[in-house]
Amino acid sequence: MPIRLLSSEVASQIAAGEVVERPASVVKELLENALDAGAKNVTISIADAGRTLVEVADDGVGIPSNELELAVSRHATSKLAQSEDLFHIMTLGFRGEALASIGSVSRMTITSRVKSAEEGARLHIEGGKASRLEKVGAPIGTVVRVEDLFYNVPARLKFLKSDVTERRIIDSLVTRYALAYPNVRFKLVEGKQVSLQTAGDGDRRAILAALYGVDVAKQMLEVIAEEEGKALTGFISPTSLTRSNRREITFFINGRWVQDSALNTALLQAYHTLLMVGRYPLSALFLTIPPEEVDVNVHPTKAEVRFRSQDKVFSFVQRSTRKALLAYTPIPSVSPQLWGPRPAPMERREVGIDWSIAHDDRQFSVESDQLPGTSNESEVTSDKSLSVDSQLVTRRPETFSPVPLLRLIGQIGATYLVAEGPDGLYLIDQHAAHERVLFEKLMAQHNAKQIPSQALLNPAIVTLPPQSSKMLLSQLPFLNRFGFEVEEFGSNTFQVRAMPVLFTGGEAEAALRALVEDFEEDETPLQTEVEARLAARVCKRLAVKAGQVLSNEEQRALLTDLEACQSPRTCPHGRPTMIHLSVDMLERQFGRRGAR
Ligand code: ADP
Ligand code: MG
Repeated sequence: MPIRLLSSEVASQIAAGEVVERPASVVKELLENALDAGAKNVTISIADAGRTLVEVADDGVGIPSNELELAVSRHATSKLAQSEDLFHIMTLGFRGEALASIGSVSRMTITSRVKSAEEGARLHIEGGKASRLEKVGAPIGTVVRVEDLFYNVPARLKFLKSDVTERRIIDSLVTRYALAYPNVRFKLVEGKQVSLQTAGDGDRRAILAALYGVDVAKQMLEVIAEEEGKALTGFISPTSLTRSNRREITFFINGRWVQDSALNTALLQAYHTLLMVGRYPLSALFLTIPPEEVDVNVHPTKAEVRFRSQDKVFSFVQRSTRKALLAYTPIPSVSPQLWGPRPAPMERREVGIDWSIAHDDRQFSVESDQLPGTSNESEVTSDKSLSVDSQLVTRRPETFSPVPLLRLIGQIGATYLVAEGPDGLYLIDQHAAHERVLFEKLMAQHNAKQIPSQALLNPAIVTLPPQSSKMLLSQLPFLNRFGFEVEEFGSNTFQVRAMPVLFTGGEAEAALRALVEDFEEDETPLQTEVEARLAARVCKRLAVKAGQVLSNEEQRALLTDLEACQSPRTCPHGRPTMIHLSVDMLERQFGRRGAR
């Protein structure tokens, strides 16, 4: 093909690809325009999770009729005049691209009126082509109505996620902006349903409750710090409140929501040694720095930024958040036991001798009569399970097992079981082992399509943030198949009425929260591997913890159950359940080998 200039339609569709990825991108751009226009009230209406409609109405300064056509053309902006301005940006927008981009991939109608004008004007753009300007009566401010997003680029529609997910992204975006601009009244509606409405009275904690639920909002710690022209305000979670991913770490810089790995790291460092491995804090932090200290023009959606002196910003954020954290955390400098028992992460295993992790590839094929100390065997194989349902224990195949039969010696540190096997000593991590046991039992029942469930004497009542509630509501039938009976119990509140028999005695609330966390991680929790992951997560929450003293019976039952597992040597998340110290190794360590 010969080289030719792209038509302006194609060029703007390409440009739109950078800015407009999904309905939430439209919401973001329009919201930012409304905020830049000094709006005090912003109403966002969506239909079909934004696919067929996103409308943002504001009471900002408006666009003069004679500039309306310009506003929707590319590289047209009122926020920037010369290139130097790029380094003192005080507005959210400046690229002059959003309206043009959105207009090229949707049917967009923009109506606006400025204070000094008697009437407003309206322009309709379809696939990038503008209609004639119409004079209309309109209140002061701007309404941008975006219908049928991607109607002319159907390929892009295929990249959208489920309605539940798209809606969740919009919800979380609007809520975060509401949090950043507590003096603006935000309203988000879909049909008749209002998903968010803020008072605009500057009360951030109330908005925090809309984002995370009242319980969590109450616990969040406030950060207020100032230094050399920089200020940091907002909220961070106490060490007792964590998530399994970084998704709830939110940073705004000069009123702009950014994803910046350096800022994330600064925050995580503030929590250093205070959180378990793999747990992350929640944050809604608002950083204000002189505009010339930050370059926002490095990313099409302006989600990433560059700092002039990153080290200073980093250290300011790290110090201020650490200070806030310690101010609220009782006796922070003493040992980590304060924050509850922590499972010893395997990476930190430091032992002088060469302990081998017991997932070696040798398969043991041990008949019970080969077992040393056979007199104990009846105890070892006693049929008591840690849970009530002894009849559900899958028996170990008689002649072959991937772990040898073990003779229990006892428990140490309320965390590990010590056992003797045919070839030396085994240390078993009780939590990891129990996780494995629960997991295999649950999956076996699930595959047999019968997870017996048991009604709870005291149904647990759990309140969730609105976004999580919506997610959970859509998954109730699925939970049912997993043996959980959960019902809606008022707004954003659920009642857990029954749990799988396997988990009898476990905390229903912890289980439900584990499930919700899992749904949030993946919006299609219907495939087998996802079900397994979900099961693994619940088992993790409900397995016995490190630090929990187990009776002899319970210790034995755990060993027996572990022996019966298909993959007893790792927990469902892949960490080892046991460490093996072979006779051979013991002999070498004690210098017996050479002596013989
Ligand atoms: P940018 O925000 O980067 O300037 P946009 O394409 O989003 O580019 O908007 C182009 C121009 O249209 C803005 O510079 C502003 O002057 C005007 N405009 C857009 N939306 C609004 C609004 N809601 N209220 C007032 N003016 C607006
Ligand atoms: Mg803009």
